[in-house]
Amino acid sequence: MGKPVLLSVDDDPAVSRAVARDLRRRYGEEYRVLRASSAADGLEALRELKLRGDPVAVLLADYRMPQMNGIEFLEQAMDLFPRARRALLTAYADTDAAIQAINVVDVDHYLLKPWEPPEEKLYPVVDAMIESWKASHDAAVDDVKIVGHRWSAPSFRARDLLARNAVPYRWYSADEAEGQRLLAAAGAGPDDVPVVVTPDGRALIEPTDAELAAVVGLNVDPSERFYDLVVVGGGPAGLGAAVYGASEGLRTVLVEREATGGQAGQSSRIENYLGFPDGISGGQLAARARRQAAKFGVEVVTARDVVGLDPHGPKRVVRFGDGGGVAGHAVVLATGVSYRSLDARGCDELTGRGVYYGSAMTEAAECADRDVYIVGGANSAGQAAVYFAAYARSVSLLVRAPSLEASMSSYLIEQIAEIPNVRVRTCTVVAEAHGDGHLERLTLRNARTGESETVPTNHLFVFIGAAPRTDWLDGVVVRDQRGFVCTGPNLLADGERPPDWPLDRDPFFLESSVPGVFVAGDVRAESVKRVASAVGEGAMAVMLVHRYLGER
Ligand SMILES: Cc1cc2nc3c(=O)[nH]c(=O)nc-3n(C[C@H](O)[C@H](O)[C@H](O)COP(=O)(O)OP(=O)(O)OC[C@H]3O[C@@H](n4cnc5c(N)ncnc54)[C@H](O)[C@@H]3O)c2cc1C
Repeated sequence: MGKPVLLSVDDDPAVSRAVARDLRRRYGEEYRVLRASSAADGLEALRELKLRGDPVAVLLADYRMPQMNGIEFLEQAMDLFPRARRALLTAYADTDAAIQAINVVDVDHYLLKPWEPPEEKLYPVVDAMIESWKASHDAAVDDVKIVGHRWSAPSFRARDLLARNAVPYRWYSADEAEGQRLLAAAGAGPDDVPVVVTPDGRALIEPTDAELAAVVGLNVDPSERFYDLVVVGGGPAGLGAAVYGASEGLRTVLVEREATGGQAGQSSRIENYLGFPDGISGGQLAARARRQAAKFGVEVVTARDVVGLDPHGPKRVVRFGDGGGVAGHAVVLATGVSYRSLDARGCDELTGRGVYYGSAMTEAAECADRDVYIVGGANSAGQAAVYFAAYARSVSLLVRAPSLEASMSSYLIEQIAEIPNVRVRTCTVVAEAHGDGHLERLTLRNARTGESETVPTNHLFVFIGAAPRTDWLDGVVVRDQRGFVCTGPNLLADGERPPDWPLDRDPFFLESSVPGVFVAGDVRAESVKRVASAVGEGAMAVMLVHRYLGER
């Protein structure tokens, strides 16, 4: 593998030479600086690099270029090198281009030409992009191989874990010759999948989530035993709390079971989050939040399931499912909600083998030219319908209610109505899932007439009501009947504080029945189930943590 590449594209030869010269001066030893004089030449260079397996760290593109402008170039470049950091060069502040660039290609920075002196205007920006690229795992792990079966649930889980944590990997089917060669080399048989082979040649047979995460370079162990703030859950609420906590000087660790981003990370397009007028994909929002958390020094621990919370005097101890744990002065619980299982015969056995909970975006390519079914009537199901319609031959949205109006935002209903290959089937439920080893057919029932119909399909994505998974908090904090954690005013029954409440004040607004344990986002009783409110509660929880710490 060659040195990582910094590529600049500018149609003005003098500018192009100047950028390359300045970049070489500072980065020439560790990076290969390439320049192209048109977007087409730039893309050609990127294709060659891709074929050779060379990494690309940074792309700098001039905005005003003939034939293809800088944004269009970056958009196509992202298909080849999605993790390369991107900056747009503009000759003057061009607001429209700026907004478009943020929304279309998630550009990291702008550079206003000229950038003299580079020490002040160019290098700090490129330094930040290189740092962020290094943190994206592309630099450390560029060739993890997963060998698995198309219809094996553990194989799907391994791919999903890596994809949701933005770790690149190559997938090999155990039926292909190369897959079989890798299995043989690892001393594994076709039933031992998934087998994960690391770039340095280590093979892991059927790894646990934590083993897989560790081997691809994710942090799975806290570096300290004690922090000011322990955040449990890495969705918008947890990331919000962690960013605000760390930026305000608290030593903060965030513990996440699967992948940061939570439910929002699985959204194909969030259209109503303030500041993103053209929407932003959940993956991009999560990636940005991760970078922000890293910038402020949050320690993110991934693939650790929290299964216990023990208040020990002033210490709050959080225990992990596979042993170990971490303690802090204060805890923010931000564990969100998970989809409820679909109560239809056959679904449990076929989960991960054609029946998926949530978007399972790794499956999108497999849906090409197929008929896909989605269950649910809320925004999450609507977004998935829009997303999969771009890949599948047809998408059927199965809705139990007689219409979508009561459960889905009108902008989505309108969007769906305009997509010719999406069909909304109201009053329809899944009665049974059939298949030998993987989903092959669904029996659908009309909830009004009781009539049944069996349809062939390999893909069912389920987005039905979500519930908190808080059994592990039983007997520790007060929860409502559905398992949501009660806070602040909700804890005061007829004005009385909870029975074991030890302090001489009422619980703060986001404080649970254990002082110093705060709750933010979807897992909190009576919370608004939205990205913005989850982030807001994360920020607010930190303000209350400061107030709590101040009284000790
Ligand atoms: C597909 C989809 C699309 C959506 N679209 C929109 C939208 O367009 N606009 C909008 O406002 N809202 C949208 N929502 C809702 C929004 O995403 C949620 O309200 C928001 O993510 C809640 O954030 P949270 O941090 O409270 O919880 P979550 O996002 O649920 O995150 C909780 C995190 O905690 C982790 N966790 C749970 N238990 C443990 C444990 N024991 N140990 C360690 N980690 C744990 C989970 O793995 C998860 O990552 C959408 C939801 C979905 C599913």
